[in-house]
Amino acid sequence: MRKRILVANWKMNYDFHETTSFIRNLLKVFFDRKINHDKEIILSPSFPFLHISNQILQGSSLNIAAQNIHQKNKGPYTGEISASMLKSIGIQKVILGHSERRELFFENNQILLEKIKIALKYDFNIIFCVGESLVERKNNKQFEIIKKQLEKTVFYCSSDDIKFFYIAYEPIWAIGTGKTATFEQVQVMHEFIRSLFLEKYGKNISDNIPILYGGSINDINAKNFFSQKDVDGGLIGNASLQFEKFLKIIQS
Ligand code: PEP
Repeated sequence: MRKRILVANWKMNYDFHETTSFIRNLLKVFFDRKINHDKEIILSPSFPFLHISNQILQGSSLNIAAQNIHQKNKGPYTGEISASMLKSIGIQKVILGHSERRELFFENNQILLEKIKIALKYDFNIIFCVGESLVERKNNKQFEIIKKQLEKTVFYCSSDDIKFFYIAYEPIWAIGTGKTATFEQVQVMHEFIRSLFLEKYGKNISDNIPILYGGSINDINAKNFFSQKDVDGGLIGNASLQFEKFLKIIQS
């Protein structure tokens, strides 16, 4: 049985104090309220706070992911952060292919494939995002788009490497908009994604690859998304910044 996974993507929001007090509070509340969850929880703070966040979480069941890495490992890339740098501070997971990176920072499939390769070289787990735009959905192109996004990136990887991936289906029109895809739309897409993995890698990988949904998940709708057969959890933006809401999502 696949484990439920929650990824909190804090984007460019919390500063040092907000990040560390959120994490400390979360650990305290888990302890005080005796919250026993069986989920894999991954928090994704901004780069400067990854190290301290990781230290605070040492010995807990929570994990940290970076929000990005550069595709090269070293050199004249002012302002960039490499996989080996993150590895040297104990980070083992990274989000790649988020629609904000694709749209605002022009990360295309080729760049993302390079990022995947460098991340795998340093044994990172990759939370890889795919998703269609509203226009693509209106033109009923969503399946074609998702297939292409996977074929040009993840599907270049070997079966051994696929074990390092989580896939996050994030329809762009549902991210940060308050508009969610319907539970049915999400289940249909997740089933489709799983079928692509079946075709490419066989039943074992297809049965086990975690597929998360992301797009305006909140404490009210989380349970319904998570009860869909092929939804293994969520990538959560806004609601993960609100402590009590995030706690309710964890308990969904
Ligand atoms: C995201 O940015 O990955 C996301 C899902 O954001 P939100 O939950 O705010 O829609």
